[in-house]
Amino acid sequence: MQNNPDILLITSDAALAANRHGGRAKCLQRLVRLDLPVPRTVALSFQAVKRIAAGQMPDIAQVDAQFGEEALLCVRPSSEDPDWGGPGAVLNIGMNDAQYRCLSERLGPGAAAALYSRFVQAYATHVARLDPDVFDGDPVESPKGLQRMLRAYEDEADEPFPQSRSDQLRGVLRSMARAWEGTSARLLRQAKGAPADAGLGLVVQEMIPGLGQGECGSGVLQLADPVTGLPQITGRYLSQSQGREALGAGAAAIYLEKDPRGPSLEELAPEAFEALKRDAALMRRRLREEMQVEFVIQNGEVHILDGVRVPRSPRAAVRIAVRLAEDGIIPPEEAVMRVDAHSVSELLHRQVAPDAAREVLATGIGASPGAATGRIVFSAAAAQASAARGEACILVRRETAPEDVRGMHAAAGVLTEKGGMTSHAAVIGRGLGLPCIVGASELTFNTRDKMLRTPAGRILRESDVITIDGSTGEILAGEPEMLEAALDDAFQTLMGWADTCRDIGVRANADTPADARTAHNFDAEGIGLCRTEHMFFEPGRLTVMREMIFADSSSGRAEVLARLLPMQRDDFIQLFKIMEGRPVCIRLFDPPLHEFLPATRSGQRELAEALDLPVSDVTRRIEAMAEYNPMLGLRGVRLGVTVPEIYEMQARAIFEATLESGAAGAPIVPEIMIPLVSAKREVELIKGRIDSVAATVRAQRGRDFTYRLGVMVETPRAALRAAEIAPNVAFLSFGTNDLTQMTYGLSRDDAGRFMSDYVNKGVFAEDPFHVLDIDGVGELLKLGAERGRAAHPGLTVSICGEHGGNPESIAFCREAGFDYVSCSPFRVPVARLAAAQLAIAEKIGVGPAKIP
Ligand code: PEP
Ligand code: MG
Repeated sequence: MQNNPDILLITSDAALAANRHGGRAKCLQRLVRLDLPVPRTVALSFQAVKRIAAGQMPDIAQVDAQFGEEALLCVRPSSEDPDWGGPGAVLNIGMNDAQYRCLSERLGPGAAAALYSRFVQAYATHVARLDPDVFDGDPVESPKGLQRMLRAYEDEADEPFPQSRSDQLRGVLRSMARAWEGTSARLLRQAKGAPADAGLGLVVQEMIPGLGQGECGSGVLQLADPVTGLPQITGRYLSQSQGREALGAGAAAIYLEKDPRGPSLEELAPEAFEALKRDAALMRRRLREEMQVEFVIQNGEVHILDGVRVPRSPRAAVRIAVRLAEDGIIPPEEAVMRVDAHSVSELLHRQVAPDAAREVLATGIGASPGAATGRIVFSAAAAQASAARGEACILVRRETAPEDVRGMHAAAGVLTEKGGMTSHAAVIGRGLGLPCIVGASELTFNTRDKMLRTPAGRILRESDVITIDGSTGEILAGEPEMLEAALDDAFQTLMGWADTCRDIGVRANADTPADARTAHNFDAEGIGLCRTEHMFFEPGRLTVMREMIFADSSSGRAEVLARLLPMQRDDFIQLFKIMEGRPVCIRLFDPPLHEFLPATRSGQRELAEALDLPVSDVTRRIEAMAEYNPMLGLRGVRLGVTVPEIYEMQARAIFEATLESGAAGAPIVPEIMIPLVSAKREVELIKGRIDSVAATVRAQRGRDFTYRLGVMVETPRAALRAAEIAPNVAFLSFGTNDLTQMTYGLSRDDAGRFMSDYVNKGVFAEDPFHVLDIDGVGELLKLGAERGRAAHPGLTVSICGEHGGNPESIAFCREAGFDYVSCSPFRVPVARLAAAQLAIAEKIGVGPAKIP
């Protein structure tokens, strides 16, 4: 048989390969090479299984002959990557009337009937394709029930249950080979990253009956906890000696280590327990992975049926990888490669415990990861009141606006009906590290009556407790058990290793001192985007801002802005101080002014009082400022050109803060960024004004400083005309949120409504606000970077849209030679790890697709 590469007995020197016989067959061979007690096993190659599916059965008698006549066999799938799955294992092949009689004497009729009935059921459903309902009703361990089951099989299949082990084996192999070819199995494995033509191998293994006078049973054991990754023996063991008569439903669960709930495996079979620990440690060392051992104990003796990677939570994945490297089993670079960068953000937030019961009320778009529980509130004011009472709350809004930011600060989580990955709630939520679900249009929002209706018709009212899981997008009833964030030593160690491998910078988008502190704690190399407008929503500033908007002359505006100046200067001093000399890129004011004006009647009344104006004046003014399409209206640099006093005040605040902060230590070089540019002349006008403010501050203070001016490329035209814009500036930073919006003509605030339809129907492969559209928006990025750099060698190029924290988008930016990416503070670790993995993958010649 060993001459046929498609059907091989697994021995230490059999010519087996994972890409021909699958990962399980290869792993079993490794266990054999380690001299572990593995039962006799035959491996069938991908080719053999493919032929079986096509109706060409190999010589099964030859396979069958490898095993003793009395042996029961099992068949298990062996795909190239174990994560791609495969058809379920079929056990107890070889059970027939004669085996049943023989086992009845040794085991008792109940246990023998259970073994036979289960096989008949599995064979009938998977091989003979009979209706499973026909076999329901009888307890499996009843001999009478078994007889009825065999009769039912004969009636339905028009033939008696096959008695020959070879025939049974043929049937099982055929059904498993065909199951792999089915459409749903193919789609499922492709979703897990398998190529369309992925092959399936099968392994036929002798079963160890687990019968005898001494301790017998079966179980799994691993040396690490799958949830925490901490070194701890975990697993489960089912002792047949203890629960023999009740095999099946009532069998006793026996715990692995000493446990008050019952006798442990350690107590029942101390030698076997020690042997298992030794074997697991050997597998960990030699297979270079934390392995789960599947075993059988027969008369106190251990048999190892299989070894698989310990299934693991994201936090366990980090700890396991770091411990393997610290124990010298794998190099640190490999540990970095073994952690899925996407899953790291889960470690930075509280999570719903993986085994907690989840009552899902509805789902939306998980826009900011982490889970939060709280009482429902429907307004920012109610969120602040709730926080004042010390009660956690979930702020529920149709969508959020800048006015809600203070309520968001006070809430434990945010849930909105509208919006997508870059809508206001999503961006602010990620910035604050606040769990957030947007686009939850499955729920009916009735904010006026303070009610939500779930798709199942359940009504949720203010004060009801819900949990939002911003990682999955699920809205859950009540308060499931949570896991705390895991920024432990293992995580820090992994990040340190990642940073030594990385070759693209990672900065954070941070607007407030709190954001900057988070960014600094996550070791961001600087601030890549400070959205200054968020500073104007601080208490005490909004009214001054509104006064400025209502001022009807340039001098009136300048006078009010002079009151905002010291506040802005303090903001920047704080940012510079927290960032300790790392670069800080400050974006000048961006949103349309009317966003600062009250939308409600009562808000307008309050404003009228504060400004000492009639309400009608306030309302008229607000109406006059309304725009049909404000995101394409008077905002960004257009405000800078037409209402220059705001940018002048901001530039002065930045420069004064620069001098004040620099006086204490190394000089600060601030970066100033102009938003929404589409024409060279805009940059020239703003640059002229900022240079003149700089000259005035230098003259007034008698001290020199420099600054770097940059343009935020977020209109397609700015990317196309980068060659004429770049010579005026030190850097270009691509704002891919607006650039995606404008390239597609797709509203970032409204796309959430239909985005899932578009993705499901294959119009978009992914939400382009989440994963950069490399074909379209990406082309503009490449073009802009190339044209900009050709016109201005040494130009710094970066990305500061939300895509900056997405591993696939980082791959694109790295490939295009960007200097750094900038993303929400809580995504900085994801970006650092993803960037390191890209550099390592390139070094060892693995394509990005292979990155975990
Ligand atoms: C962008 O448009 O990509 C950006 C970063 O700016 P904002 O999200 O504030 O519009
Ligand atoms: Mg923008």
